Amino acid sequence: MTDVPDIATPMRTQAIMNSFGINTKKSLGQNFLTDINILKNIVAAGNVQPTDNVIEIGPGIGALTEQLARAAKQVVAFEIDDRLIPVLEHTMAPYDNVTVVNQDILTVDLEQAIKEHFTDPEAPLKLVANLPYYITTPILMQVLQSDVKFANIVVMMQKEVASRLSAEVGTKDYGALTLAVQYRMNATLAFTVSRTAFVPNPNVDSAIISLTPREPLKVLPHNEKQLFNLFKIGFTMRRKTLWNNLITAFGKDDAMKAKLTAALADIDLDPRIRAEKLSLEKFIDLHNALVKTGVYSK
Ligand code: SAM
Repeated sequence: MTDVPDIATPMRTQAIMNSFGINTKKSLGQNFLTDINILKNIVAAGNVQPTDNVIEIGPGIGALTEQLARAAKQVVAFEIDDRLIPVLEHTMAPYDNVTVVNQDILTVDLEQAIKEHFTDPEAPLKLVANLPYYITTPILMQVLQSDVKFANIVVMMQKEVASRLSAEVGTKDYGALTLAVQYRMNATLAFTVSRTAFVPNPNVDSAIISLTPREPLKVLPHNEKQLFNLFKIGFTMRRKTLWNNLITAFGKDDAMKAKLTAALADIDLDPRIRAEKLSLEKFIDLHNALVKTGVYSK
């Protein structure tokens, strides 16, 4: 397939958009990559192999999809914008291993979609995408809270969000997103990308983050959904104490306060502490203590 010209040049991107009468929509985070070297480096960071299934979120006009199609077994790409579906039918015509699904990724049941769209749903699965930046956090939370096991995840996002993914405990970037990532994956910054690599140029600089499955945790939570909810509760008001955020979420009545006090005492936690000082392990202990004292049901 090397005789098919790359989509990702500024000239070809413009020509494709002109021939379909497409203008990019800022509201959908449409900044298309036009630098072939960056696309190749993204695929390399994902170590995409001919045996791999790949999910892509937001294929746009297909610049990254095409590189993934050349490297992977099959690519399933979710695109919300109806206007781009005929464009993708045209640009992906040379590739018989690409399935485009016209759906908002935030409404996709990933487990179901994998069974439905991949011809071999058991093949190793990777997620590789240049994400729509306006929903980076919800997408990551959705992916991390699902039971889908990704061999790795390589995603481009705005640099500020990338710093939150790999933040150390106690720093200003540390928060619910950091904890959700750490719970399942190890995050490393693969490389940064200048805003000039896109059409149109975004207002922010970008970074590629690589996530790989983490080593097993020593202590597991009773309930993962509740744990993720506790991450959010802890950081509802960043500057407030953990205690304040807990009583706001669970209730201020005496019976609830007694249960919360017992849970904190059980794991030697000072109620005046702020959530940003709590490691992932401590959050899991807190969740399990809240189950023990009946704040959460099992
Ligand atoms: N992959 C292309 C590239 O690298 O040139 C385009 C990336 S662009 C940053 C983000 C893409 O995500 C756009 O095509 C946009 O229409 C799409 N998108 C935005 N919101 C979406 C959603 N909720 N679900 C699926 N795709 C979405």
